[in-house]
Amino acid sequence: MKCKEIPYNRVEKEAMEQTFSKLHKQFIAAKSGEEQWKVHLQYHAYLDDIMTMCTLAGIRHDGNVEDPFYKKEQAYYDALLPILEKYKIAYEKALYESPYRSFLEEKMGQVAFRNLELKQKAFHESLIPLMQEENELVTKYCQCIANAKIPFQGQIFNLSLLQKYLVHQNREIRKEAYQKQSDFFQSVAEELDEIYDRLVKNRTKQAEKLGYTTYIPLGYARMRRNCYDAEMVKRFREQVKREVVPIASKIQENRRRRLGLEKLYYFDSDLYFAEGNPAPIGDAMQILQAGEQMYHALSKETDTFFQFMKQHELFDVFGRKNKRAGGYMTTLANIHAPFIFANFNGTSADVDVITHECGHAFQAFLTREVAVAEYRDLTMEMAEVHSMSMEFFTEPWMELFFGERAEDYRRMHLESSILFLPYGCMVDEFQHLIYENPTSSKQERKNMWLDLEKQYRPDLDYAKDPFFSSGGYWQKQGHIYQSPFYYIDYVLAMVCALQWRNRMQSDYQSAWEAYIAFAKASASEFFTDLIEKVGLQSPFAEDAVHNLMHIIQEREKK
Ligand code: ZN
Repeated sequence: MKCKEIPYNRVEKEAMEQTFSKLHKQFIAAKSGEEQWKVHLQYHAYLDDIMTMCTLAGIRHDGNVEDPFYKKEQAYYDALLPILEKYKIAYEKALYESPYRSFLEEKMGQVAFRNLELKQKAFHESLIPLMQEENELVTKYCQCIANAKIPFQGQIFNLSLLQKYLVHQNREIRKEAYQKQSDFFQSVAEELDEIYDRLVKNRTKQAEKLGYTTYIPLGYARMRRNCYDAEMVKRFREQVKREVVPIASKIQENRRRRLGLEKLYYFDSDLYFAEGNPAPIGDAMQILQAGEQMYHALSKETDTFFQFMKQHELFDVFGRKNKRAGGYMTTLANIHAPFIFANFNGTSADVDVITHECGHAFQAFLTREVAVAEYRDLTMEMAEVHSMSMEFFTEPWMELFFGERAEDYRRMHLESSILFLPYGCMVDEFQHLIYENPTSSKQERKNMWLDLEKQYRPDLDYAKDPFFSSGGYWQKQGHIYQSPFYYIDYVLAMVCALQWRNRMQSDYQSAWEAYIAFAKASASEFFTDLIEKVGLQSPFAEDAVHNLMHIIQEREKK
């Protein structure tokens, strides 16, 4: 069935409440592990039904925000979902406290129970008013960023439209674009400081109410850090500082020479080639077709995946009137299908959808028949391994997208991936410092950032830009406001993806098979265990980063 032909029926609130109450009662009344397990399967089947309708309404609304029917449905679910959440939390509590836990744990695995425990630890009803305020503050930050009106070259830009001028091959143009961006942030700096101050204090208060001394353990529980702690993350960052920062400096020096510049400034940060960064050669349609060709050639599994997506029309990627901006991957649980939403515009961001988002979707496709719903409950570092590794597995086909500049694309991809490691760690260390010292002043926070920049990005020169050189850069990084401690996930995932890149260079086929095994295992095991099981080093191993960078450097010499 094509996605657009799937019949839609609204989830009625009363029926939903009755069904959940009934399942909850049955679960508690069950007399054995087997009986509870049967109820649990029914619970997930029902949850899948609900979520499929909710997702359908969402993607149809996003596909045409002016459609009055789905506009109403979307508003309906916005109000229904918090109620659903209440039932889920109550049910999960019963599940966690089950007298037949050992039987259930056998069925669902340790990871699922550890996740349930973290969820219980991270929530209490008494936190709801603070959590509501937290959401409002995050929304305020997002609005402030989204509403940016930046005058540039006689027009008005928002931050995402300005993006392409930040990598413009004409240095004067990109310098001006950076200055305009800086002017915008300078104009809202005080407001952003204020929002952040309130967020940090709010989150700290939530943690104190639950008996923690700082927000860090609560933030970790909310990110479902089920197999590593802050101390391990700290040692990982130290590895990156020691092993990657010097190599990053060499990459910057090569880039400077390649660009033919006397010195690199902050406004040269994202440009890799004097003639401009590689851009796709075809239009949106051709990019999608190139994707099909690539996944056909890559493997049997990816070919089946892509044909499935095409047949069921699970790509809504072409821009059109009344379509919502942005992009994402989601799943329609009931028909076991991933769905990709995007707005192709003929830039390299479209290629990212085909490589990165399709990596997420491919994993969802591989695990679509998995009976234990909890196995699909991925933590973020794991999910990003699926997508970031796919970016490397698809590299041999970049000629289809970038023609003669495919090699430039691969160079840029490798260099930007390595340069990302210290940056990502810096974002993470900053947040640890912030939540360890929740009463710091606005200036102290900026000084912390400046101090970290000296350690992680020693070559960066802001050319005395008033906003960036006074420690304001982090206000651009939305994760710091929106999802505390969600960022190191990308760094951990990148260390794994780059290890796969090393492996595929010596034996593509065996690397691919290990990747498939990793993707299929999904969340059935802890991230750190699973990574080692498929033959990679856990990023937390003492010499993981050293070994990774050593192999990359040896290959670069050839
Ligand atoms: Zn992703």
